[in-house]
Amino acid sequence: MSVKPSLTGIILEELADFLEKRGVAPYRAKQITDWIYKKRVTSFDAMTDLPNELRSELAVEFDTPKMEVVRVLGSKDTTQKFLFRLRDQNLIESVLIPASPALYGQPSDRRTICVSTQVGCAYGCKFCASGLEGFSRNLDAAEMVRQLIEIEKKSGEKIDNVVFMGMGEPLANLKNLLRAIRIINAPWGLGIGARHITVSTSGLAPQIRELANESTQFRLAISLHGATNEVRGQIMPVNKRYPLKVLLEACDYYVAKKRRMTFEYILIAGVNDTDEQANELAKIARRLSARINLIPYNTVEGLEWSRPSLPQQKKFQFILRNHGVIATLRLEKGNDIAAACGQLRLQTKRSAGL
Ligand code: SAH
Ligand code: SF4
Repeated sequence: MSVKPSLTGIILEELADFLEKRGVAPYRAKQITDWIYKKRVTSFDAMTDLPNELRSELAVEFDTPKMEVVRVLGSKDTTQKFLFRLRDQNLIESVLIPASPALYGQPSDRRTICVSTQVGCAYGCKFCASGLEGFSRNLDAAEMVRQLIEIEKKSGEKIDNVVFMGMGEPLANLKNLLRAIRIINAPWGLGIGARHITVSTSGLAPQIRELANESTQFRLAISLHGATNEVRGQIMPVNKRYPLKVLLEACDYYVAKKRRMTFEYILIAGVNDTDEQANELAKIARRLSARINLIPYNTVEGLEWSRPSLPQQKKFQFILRNHGVIATLRLEKGNDIAAACGQLRLQTKRSAGL
């Protein structure tokens, strides 16, 4: 399927080139990105200070696809989930998390959006709703950026933190991801600081190495979820392709080249919450000077996994701390409204009998 590039995927410098080739005055480029990213219009017709001819030329070149919010769950002061229908009827979701204590190492008191990067996910982690129905397609950069724009519009909130932790594996869609980050970060775009942007990956070692050589300053979080091949391999099929040794060597490379990274570790009762795993995890964290975000597992309908008791969670955290590792235990927000990625989409599809 070949589609025209979309409005919210436009990059100032590329637009300037395009206009220059057509003999349009250079100042128009900034005028247009202001309409898209500051005033947030959804058509070229609405760009009232552009000549008519230029508006129609742009409309031929770029698409303004529909991307509707079809369901919202949750209320203003809790986590809110937004279900989007895309131009091809595919469903994706994003989550808006209100001010919460330093989840990923950023300052607290920020509104965070959790962005999807793909429709479904091919990586099939055993505990995750997004992986349950396989992979449909990559999102383009415009569809990622649009999640922020539409949610700010719908909620009336200003988003100041972005985590790529919704549906999909961001590093399997690297080109579009980097383009979206460029737009989200640019002063002419959404203007969100790179340190307020976090990408989470299930551990694609080659792409982690690639990122180490990128000039971009966003944060990287690795979904570890198991501190030995035996445990990790049981719940994350990607561990076969990139076993811990390969993954951690890529992490060494990243940390040496760039800066710190974070590990995410979901706590699943009886699977990865033993003292032995905590001890092994501490070794890994120390090797990489990484901090650990412990996340109590969110139950997914139809899956057998559950979270450990609170004392068990605290014990796991205590062991890490005893090894001198910084480990935070996330107090789940939005557990009640199916906040873990992929769950709202799954529920909507199931209740619609899809
Ligand atoms: N594919 C990427 C990013 C999307 S998933 C990745 O795997 O990192 C974002 C995070 O949510 C991951 O750490 C993932 O393991 C976690 N996650 C998935 N299902 C979950 C659930 N049911 N409860 C808690 N965390 C979950
Ligand atoms: Fe995909 Fe991440 Fe879910 Fe694994 S946890 S299936 S990589 S979205």
